Formats: sequence, structure tokens, C-alpha cells
Amino acid sequence: MKPGHTIPILGKGYVRYIDHLGTDLRIVESARISYKSPSKGEDQDKKLLIYLYKHRHTSPFEQCSITYNIKMPIFIMRQFVRHRTFRLNEWSGRYSELADEFYVPTQWRAADAKNKQGSQVSDSLNHPALTKEVENFNHQAYGTYQNLLKQGVAKELARMVLPVSIFTEVYVNCDLHNLIHFLQLREDDHAQQEIRELSAAMRQIAETLYPWTFEAYHKYRMAVSEKSKGD
Ligand SMILES: Cc1cc2nc3c(=O)[nH]c(=O)nc-3n(C[C@H](O)[C@H](O)[C@H](O)COP(=O)(O)OP(=O)(O)OC[C@H]3O[C@@H](n4cnc5c(N)ncnc54)[C@H](O)[C@@H]3O)c2cc1C
Repeated sequence: MKPGHTIPILGKGYVRYIDHLGTDLRIVESARISYKSPSKGEDQDKKLLIYLYKHRHTSPFEQCSITYNIKMPIFIMRQFVRHRTFRLNEWSGRYSELADEFYVPTQWRAADAKNKQGSQVSDSLNHPALTKEVENFNHQAYGTYQNLLKQGVAKELARMVLPVSIFTEVYVNCDLHNLIHFLQLREDDHAQQEIRELSAAMRQIAETLYPWTFEAYHKYRMAVSEKSKGD
């Protein structure tokens, strides 16, 4: 995969591949150091990797990592930063003017009547009217932001009038073990749809780089996911 490969998400957002460390073979080599045993060929290497994954021998997966550049709305960033194992740097609204770019869903969802964490697209909602109302609100909020800046208010204060649907941007690095932990939690159907879309794009990039690992991920995902769900 070429650096700069970009997957669009959430309207104006994206997940962009920057670079990565290691391959599936690095995971196998790292595990084999325990016995100082050499590679026994591709088939055996792949079998070993799947065994490691299945039995939660997780540390060899920490030998690999990926760096992404991600653009996402701030309300999704709030969920994203709960994952403490990400190493990240964020665009600063103290030092630069934030762009007039907001996330507006293409379809509005209503709260699920039974599942507190769920929501679904509903015919009972007036989609075009909701979109218009929110776009007007965003426009007004951004206008107030600009007015405050024009009057000399510092960027760090003026930004307080902006809605959490405004886009932010991060550089983020994560080792493969903790990335998989994140994906299990945030690709799960208990997670909000927007962060699921973000996670799916991160996974698409990761599975091109570590195909054996993601073969194991798809095979054993549910079993592990049940054990490690967040609240
Ligand atoms: C569907 C869903 C709903 C959620 N709802 C809420 C909510 O309503 N409110 C809320 O506050 N949060 C919520 N969360 C966030 C959740 O509680 C976790 O904070 C988040 O999923 C990160 O999980 P983690 O701690 O396992 O991951 P990470 O922070 O990436 O950590 C990975 C692993 O590293 C270890 N670790 C990391 N840091 C430490 C540390 N300091 N000490 C010890 N061990 C550490 C732990 O073993 C941890 O499991 C939700 C998460 C999900 C997936």
C-alpha cells in the first residue's frame, strides 16, 4: 500500500495510511525467539500466527504498528481518545482557525425503543427538514466564531461556540494488538455507527498490511469480542 492511500468517511472525513512497522512475518519471528527456532516455511509460519492469535499470545502483535492520519468530527474523537493505547497528535484550535466543515448525517436515526445503545434510520423523521435545520445552525455558529475572531477574541476561546460536529484531524499510531482490541470494540454493533465507519476504514488498511492476522481476526473475532466489550 502506498503512503497517502485515503479512504473517505463521514462526509468530509477520511482515514489515510501514513506508514507501518513490521509484517505478519515479524509477528512469527518475534514469537519464535522464545525457542530461537528458525522459520519452517510459509505454511507453518501462518499456522503459528493463527495459533498465537487464537490463544491470545498477544505480545508478538505489539511488534507491529500503523500510523494513520484521520479526519473525524469532534464528537467521534471523544470516543476515539478513550482508547489510551493510541499515540496521537491533534490539530490545535488554539493555534489555527478551524475550517468551516461539519458532519451532517445523510440519514437521520431515531433512538432504538429496546436497545439503549442502538439507533436506526426512521421514516418518522423528516430527513430534509432536519438536515436544513442543522446546516443553518452550523452556518450560524461558524458566523459567530468568525465574528468573535474579528473582534480580537483568541482562537482558544472563540472555538467554544462551535458544535462538536466540526471536523478535527489527528496523526495516530497504534500497535497491532491494541488496534485489534479497538476494532473489536468499535466495529461491534453496540458501537455508534459513525465510529464503526471509521473503524472499518482503519481495518481495511490494516488487513492489506497484515493479511494473516486479519484472517485470524475474522475467524476468532466474535469469541474475543464477547470477552472484551467496553461499557
Ligand atoms: C460501545 C461502547 C460504549 C461506551 N460507552 C462509554 C460511556 O458511556 N462512558 C464512558 O466513559 N466510556 C464509554 N466507553 C469507553 C470504554 O469504557 C473504554 O474506555 C474504551 O472502550 C477503551 O477501552 P480500553 O480501556 O479497553 O482500551 P485502551 O484504553 O486502548 O486500553 C487497552 C487495554 O490496555 C490496558 N490499559 C490501558 N490503560 C491502562 C491503565 N491506565 N491502567 C491499566 N490498564 C490499562 C487495559 O487492559 C485496556 O483494556 C464505551 C466503549 C464502547 C466500546
